[in-house]
Amino acid sequence: MNNPNQATNYRTHYCGELSAENISNQVSVCGWVKRRREHGEKLAFIDLYDHTGIIQCVVDEKLNLGGEFVLKITGTVSERPEGTVNPNIKTGDVELTECEVEILNKAEPPPIPLDERVEVDENLRLRYRYLDLRKEKIQKNLRVRAKINEAFRSSMSEQGFLELETPLLIVSTPEGARDFVVPSRLHNGNFYALPQSPQIFKQLAMVGGIDRYYQIARCLRDEDLRADRQFEFMQLDVEASFVNQEDIIEIITAATKNALCAVLGDEISEAVEFSEMTYETAMENYGSDKPDTRFEMLLTDITQIFENTQANVFKAECLKAINVLGGVDKISRAQIDDLTDFSKKLGAKGLAWFKVGPKVDAAESLDGPLTKFLSADEMKALVESVSASSGDLILVIADTHQVANRVLGQIRVQLGTELSLTSGNEIQSAEDLNFVWVTDFPLFEGLDETGTPICAHHLFTMPHEDDIDLLVTGGGEGMLKARSLAYDLVLNGWELGSGSIRIHKPDIQERVFAALGLSEEETKKRFGYFLDAYKFGAPPHGGFALGIDRFTALLSGEENIREVIAFPKTQTGQDPMTGAPNRISDIHLKELGVQVPPEEK
Ligand code: ASP
Repeated sequence: MNNPNQATNYRTHYCGELSAENISNQVSVCGWVKRRREHGEKLAFIDLYDHTGIIQCVVDEKLNLGGEFVLKITGTVSERPEGTVNPNIKTGDVELTECEVEILNKAEPPPIPLDERVEVDENLRLRYRYLDLRKEKIQKNLRVRAKINEAFRSSMSEQGFLELETPLLIVSTPEGARDFVVPSRLHNGNFYALPQSPQIFKQLAMVGGIDRYYQIARCLRDEDLRADRQFEFMQLDVEASFVNQEDIIEIITAATKNALCAVLGDEISEAVEFSEMTYETAMENYGSDKPDTRFEMLLTDITQIFENTQANVFKAECLKAINVLGGVDKISRAQIDDLTDFSKKLGAKGLAWFKVGPKVDAAESLDGPLTKFLSADEMKALVESVSASSGDLILVIADTHQVANRVLGQIRVQLGTELSLTSGNEIQSAEDLNFVWVTDFPLFEGLDETGTPICAHHLFTMPHEDDIDLLVTGGGEGMLKARSLAYDLVLNGWELGSGSIRIHKPDIQERVFAALGLSEEETKKRFGYFLDAYKFGAPPHGGFALGIDRFTALLSGEENIREVIAFPKTQTGQDPMTGAPNRISDIHLKELGVQVPPEEK
């Protein structure tokens, strides 16, 4: 057996383990019937499978078997006769002969095909998730996930972190999403919130001298679902005392590398690099705080070139360009039109394009609908600024600084996929995994309609020492310049996790609350217990949380995190198998003191 390495009363081996090494051994295997082929009256071939693979069994008695019947087969491992070897499966050299079959359970015909190659409607798959789980791909993904968790645990424990559980029934956590709430039976009219993260508790654990905490934590956020988002998700949640940003980056990098080794082996993992870049560099060069650094095509600021331009569409706060190498042949007119529509959908006014022709003179060489409005000097400078040469395609967005960066950044990512500039989801070598630590995030990501700043991370994040004076009561644009000690870990353009050094001094925390427009009364009501704790000696501390679902999806080559979660919800947040969410009885509602609208018939 693989694990535990000993036989049980039911079986001596897993199906997929048998090989030529076991020839002439008497073995027992257990599993489900994948296929049966009958040869005449007496002879039958049964393919039996479990999560390790398939073994062919030759049976010489008439059996009434159906697909997915549960069997125990005892037989002799034999070499397959010449011409029947199957190189496509691990056990393809051998088969079980002289078999004795015990039917452990019958099965009705499965309501969904269990053949990996057949696409099944998502709702049906989740309705019969227990059958869907039998598929090789999901089995593999869930085992990758378990390996990641195990590697995280061992690394964190090796680095002196204590595994600690924090409660699920709490008060609201300020992560900026909507809470799931649970009505209280003993305190009618009151509600618990489910944790959006263990943030407050892990910080209080630092005040409590825990020093180094971690948890594979379940977080719940009532947000619209997407391919990379579920209501509940798992994080490697970490907090440490007496550390700075570099310490946390080192700790998390070590844990991540340990997980890579467990999943991909040492050779690839040791060659994987973790780079670091500031938020500002990421935004300016990649137009995103989640830069996909697997390919170049960086954004170039060309605003200055067109400072005095006659071209009206280029009279904008900011002009950014990318150069698509060889784009003239690789991108059709229809594709350019699609990209233009795409950029308009994203909020830009349009997308300007220039094809670079073979002429030596850069200005004469340019072709595109806008060239007639540009001077020769402008065109020459444009070509030079992005180092374009014959056959390249230059794309330009002219807009506000923010829109130009954001939209061109998304066009860049789109082109990365369309032009296959990355290996997609496949991981063949260390170059296919690009980890970037993005640092120096702004403290606030913008202002809401009332002019109040919105936290980029969360409200316990320490502002940059040099920028604390930018914080003023009552808000204002000026505060948007304030940087913070917040950092993200990005993998191949996906945000894997976020963290920050926290505020540990009550006066700075109060300043942030005031900057967010929270009155003293309000902060006392919402965070009084937290601010109280800070009066009693909070150590300097910081932490991080890494999304395990996303990480597993990326290492398994999956685009949708549902493929790496055993029992996920549908896109509409439902579980078609159990029927959640559902109505509860009137008696139960009464006990909880909750009134609901009548059921729709
Ligand atoms: N609580 C944060 C989150 O869930 C992570 C952290 O700051 O440690 O994103």
